[in-house]
Amino acid sequence: MAATTARVLDRLAGGLPAPALRTTPASWAGRLRDIAPFCAAGEPLALVTPHTTDEVALVLAVADAERIPVVCQGALTGAAGAANAIDGCILLSFEKMNRILEIDPLEQIAVVQPGTVNATLSAAVAEYGLFYPPDPGSWETSTIGGNVATNAGGMCCVKYGVTSDYVRALEFVVPGGQILRTGRRTIKGVAGYDLTHLLTGSEGTLAAITEITVSLLAERDVALAAVGMFESTRAAAEAVAAIKATGRRPSMLELLDAPSIEIISSFRDVGLPNSGSVLLVRSDRGVHAADDMAVFEAAFRSAGAEEVYAASDPQEAEMLLETRRLLGPAIAAQGSPLSDDVCVPVGALATLVDGVAEIGRRHGVRAICPGHAGDGNLHPAIFYDADNTDRAFSAFEEVMDLGLSLGGTITGEHGVGLLKKSFLRRELSAPMLDLHRNVKAAFDPHGILNPGKVFD
Ligand SMILES: Cc1cc2nc3c(=O)[nH]c(=O)nc-3n(C[C@H](O)[C@H](O)[C@H](O)COP(=O)(O)OP(=O)(O)OC[C@H]3O[C@@H](n4cnc5c(N)ncnc54)[C@H](O)[C@@H]3O)c2cc1C
Repeated sequence: MAATTARVLDRLAGGLPAPALRTTPASWAGRLRDIAPFCAAGEPLALVTPHTTDEVALVLAVADAERIPVVCQGALTGAAGAANAIDGCILLSFEKMNRILEIDPLEQIAVVQPGTVNATLSAAVAEYGLFYPPDPGSWETSTIGGNVATNAGGMCCVKYGVTSDYVRALEFVVPGGQILRTGRRTIKGVAGYDLTHLLTGSEGTLAAITEITVSLLAERDVALAAVGMFESTRAAAEAVAAIKATGRRPSMLELLDAPSIEIISSFRDVGLPNSGSVLLVRSDRGVHAADDMAVFEAAFRSAGAEEVYAASDPQEAEMLLETRRLLGPAIAAQGSPLSDDVCVPVGALATLVDGVAEIGRRHGVRAICPGHAGDGNLHPAIFYDADNTDRAFSAFEEVMDLGLSLGGTITGEHGVGLLKKSFLRRELSAPMLDLHRNVKAAFDPHGILNPGKVFD
């Protein structure tokens, strides 16, 4: 064992309880990568599972002094390779820091450790009649720490916004081991730079987040939903504009294109149509929901829906939503496609879906184009196998270029990580990337936090 390695492990062992430090490959099997394909994963030096912020501080003090890379990990549901291990790194897994520290119904906030699973927090605040809106499709497994570090979105963003809209304060540890706080418990507060929102979405490159204060809303009212069936994906995408033009804000507006419907139907028969595309719309405005749904159904019909089916009660509305939730497992059952995450202005959706279909055809790869249509954030997914990997990657790349050309972004919610690192420079100018490097250097002068991820 090299002298540095031995010294690092000795220093960690000297300050951590024995079960928190593991050094055998068996201990980190299954912890080397997230779900993103095409992203490298290295061999760690150690896996640390801290229980306290002081233990995190010790790790970042030792790692900084010895110039050892540190990769923070939540539940590894990330879709960009951002949490993948790096050769010789310390994996800092927050799985044991998973306590809800406080729920304050008066201030409508919760304070949690980063390893708290999103669904656990949602269930706990519901006991107080409160609601934590950010709902990534992975909400039953992903952690609030991971959600904050990726600024996760989800299906209800179209009405409620993304994770950063709910992050009020953070405790975090910087390389060297200093424990710092940013933000506050109050609704308002403008003292100093808004580092809370700088850290939100920083993908583990600036600091290890050790405590999160989130704001909550009063529990949602009763919801109703409807599906509109359209002849083509373009027609469905155009109907999104018709819904927006009503001036009413749905609490969900999701698109399933024909190939996505096929994938769901082959996974489980839930009575979806055999052709065409589907839009799912929901309103959670309680006594006003039925009125909203009448307006949304009329918009669907005016935009050319061939059929509209409205849930008769909230239970049936929930069942319609379950159909959309089947897409993730149904795709997973077919392999691990290259999943894009472009977000474009809603007015450009129809051009995007047409473009994705054309790109798939031209490269001879199967492409699907479902997603969060209400906020312009689609997840075109390109399936590949050993014979067409290069073509699939070219198609994936062209989808991002198309998104950018339509005034959009290469990633609406999954982040950059490793998967989209080479594309970030197509979206951000060279001076902007320099500014990013300077910001990183201010937090992490020796570049030990998640090096090589997001940008160089
Ligand atoms: C089925 C499925 C559906 C999904 N649906 C959505 C969706 O609708 N919307 C969406 O946005 N994403 C979605 N995702 C992607 C993923 O779930 C999110 O990116 C999620 O926020 C990652 O959380 P995690 O706990 O798994 O974090 P990880 O994957 O473990 O880590 C993600 C990033 O966060 C960093 N990190 C984790 N914890 C900390 C910490 N305490 N301090 C500093 N950095 C940290 C890691 O270094 C890494 O950069 C989906 C994934 C799956 C598998």
